[in-house]
Amino acid sequence: MELTGANSSRVGRIRSRIGVLGGTFDPVHNGHLAIATAAFNVLELTTVLFVPAARPWMKDSGSGEVVTSVEHRVEMVRLATEGREGFGLSTVDVDRGGASYSVNTLTDLREQYGHASELLLILGADALEELPRWREPERLLSMCTLVCVGRPGSGLPEHLPQGHPGRGAQFVSGPMLQVSATDIRARVAAGSSIDGLVSPLVAGYIERKRLYKKDV
Ligand code: ATP
Repeated sequence: MELTGANSSRVGRIRSRIGVLGGTFDPVHNGHLAIATAAFNVLELTTVLFVPAARPWMKDSGSGEVVTSVEHRVEMVRLATEGREGFGLSTVDVDRGGASYSVNTLTDLREQYGHASELLLILGADALEELPRWREPERLLSMCTLVCVGRPGSGLPEHLPQGHPGRGAQFVSGPMLQVSATDIRARVAAGSSIDGLVSPLVAGYIERKRLYKKDV
């Protein structure tokens, strides 16, 4: 449909709505898939791109956290998303290399998709709280619409906290799954089951590659 008049420059140019879900994905789990699904359905997105961080800056040296190699994390995201309608994998952060900052992710995606696409940055409620401490939050937010999905422990805010740089955020309640990558890694290390927490293909990969075992 061709739009004319006052709305044509603002709305008429938008041809797709792309959700951007960045993360360490160590490993990608059902909480990630659930928030991507909720955002996809509620906000009628064209696609949700899962964007694994090359080197998550908040888990860089000094934090003491060891992150699984990017090849494994990308492969697990590929296995979890492949063949699922509306989900895709973007390797922009991996291709750029170095520490991954969302402001660079959005800059690269904007260049890739052009201004006919609206970019919607999907965050769990815990990440929303952290965002003001990320690199160049104002510039980051000028390139996207913020989408916050509820997470157990952080709940679902009804509006942005006082002083938060975000404007016009969307809030999606989501299924509130009590699952984290930290817990999954601990379960595998302890020999406990991760059934129902990750997709069967990801579980098989973790098993085959002996990820998160204490002896590797
Ligand atoms: P870790 O436990 O290693 O810190 P994580 O489970 O938080 O990892 P990340 O890859 O760091 O996973 O998260 C990427 C994004 O997904 C973040 O925006 C985070 O808030 C969101 N997210 C992860 N798990 C959930 C969940 N269960 N519910 C809602 N949001 C989630």
